[in-house]
Amino acid sequence: MTGLTPSHPLTRFAPSPTGHLHLGHVVNALYVWGIARARAGTVLLRIEDHDRQRSRTEFEHSILEDLAWLGFEADRMMVRQSGRAAFYEDHLERLKASGLAYVCSCSRKEMALASPDIPGQEMRYPGTCRERHLEWHPGLSWRIRLQPGDVAFDDERMGRQVHSPSEQCGDLQAMDRLGNWTYQFAVTVDDFLQGVTLVIRGEDLLPSTGRQIMLAELLGRTEPPTFFHHALIRKPGGEKLSKAAKDTGIRELRAAGESPGRVLGRADQAERRDGAFPANLTIVPPPAPRGEANRGTLLPTAPSPPTRDSSPAG
Ligand SMILES: [Zn+2]
Repeated sequence: MTGLTPSHPLTRFAPSPTGHLHLGHVVNALYVWGIARARAGTVLLRIEDHDRQRSRTEFEHSILEDLAWLGFEADRMMVRQSGRAAFYEDHLERLKASGLAYVCSCSRKEMALASPDIPGQEMRYPGTCRERHLEWHPGLSWRIRLQPGDVAFDDERMGRQVHSPSEQCGDLQAMDRLGNWTYQFAVTVDDFLQGVTLVIRGEDLLPSTGRQIMLAELLGRTEPPTFFHHALIRKPGGEKLSKAAKDTGIRELRAAGESPGRVLGRADQAERRDGAFPANLTIVPPPAPRGEANRGTLLPTAPSPPTRDSSPAG
């Protein structure tokens, strides 16, 4: 169904301005620009500020400044999700017209009470409001009806994947109770409208893929993008890098006198499992792909963003 490797791909780097850039973002940027450049593709920069309560202009400035310092330059004009409400509204309207969207009044707490809490599994919306036909007013959310069934796709690195969105998460929220467009809805509309053909992101977002493919189809997208989920660098014990982390923040590395080339070299080495930087970082191996063999051969061995120098990350 999906998994064709696009030549001249249109891909994107899509940070949320809810914190400063850290080494995990740099690893993602190396993949995005590295793969795009190796395949004569195009990189879009999208600021994912859909969460109005958590997004800050100061973080956007800081992210853009750090990207420029590292030499990552997008090929198209930057877009901000906060300026795209009309597109999200338009697509929600279409779903409403097809009877695929409905109003939900459930809070997270109510959802938690209604759904059995299974350790290691995400919270599934049980469909409480599906047939309640509520009128929307501020304070209520919008959900999209997902049909039961599997979505299969071929991740470029992790191989064949089969997801069951309706089992995993239940009906998707498009707009939350605070009036924010959700990550799932906004990125799916954006990837569709912006013509993104290759999504390159960390494997923590792998579970989102089946539902995004399903939603894209409901929105009228006939050919979903191809996906490449890369490994995440983590701290010992499996802890994710956080935006508040002082040890891997690009701000802090710059303040400590690091050069762009050295930071890129360190991110590159961390990504290659050398564990060189920071000394206590490790790469967690990906979960075993289901079905066919892991392809995993598409990443160029030496992604080369424009200003990267060859200084090894000691
Ligand atoms: Zn509900």
